[in-house]
Amino acid sequence: MGLPFQPVPKPTHKRNKPTAKQRGAISSSVRQQVNIRSQDRCERCGKHISNVWTLEQAHIKRRWTMEGKCTANDLVRLCGPSSDSSTCHHFADYTRAGREWLVEFQTKLLEEST
Ligand SMILES: [Zn+2]
Repeated sequence: MGLPFQPVPKPTHKRNKPTAKQRGAISSSVRQQVNIRSQDRCERCGKHISNVWTLEQAHIKRRWTMEGKCTANDLVRLCGPSSDSSTCHHFADYTRAGREWLVEFQTKLLEEST
């Protein structure tokens, strides 16, 4: 016979970390800060203006890699929709160069805010 069945004991602690969804949630004040910072333009191309074009707030880091709360420094306002391959949101989310651009952009944000 093999080894006796040894189930792993269930963890007794409660979940104390917020879920990825909760961490990724953007509060209205954070949204406002990003809107002010972006001056209602796409923060990459600067061409597309809110109300004329779809601007979307994109997470710089993937939700599940973030720690703590989402702040204005975790967001960038880009022209969208991301499903349109000619937009900055698509570039940022789906291309390697875009991910690199996001990291650079955030580095600048963090330098400016310190
Ligand atoms: Zn753009």
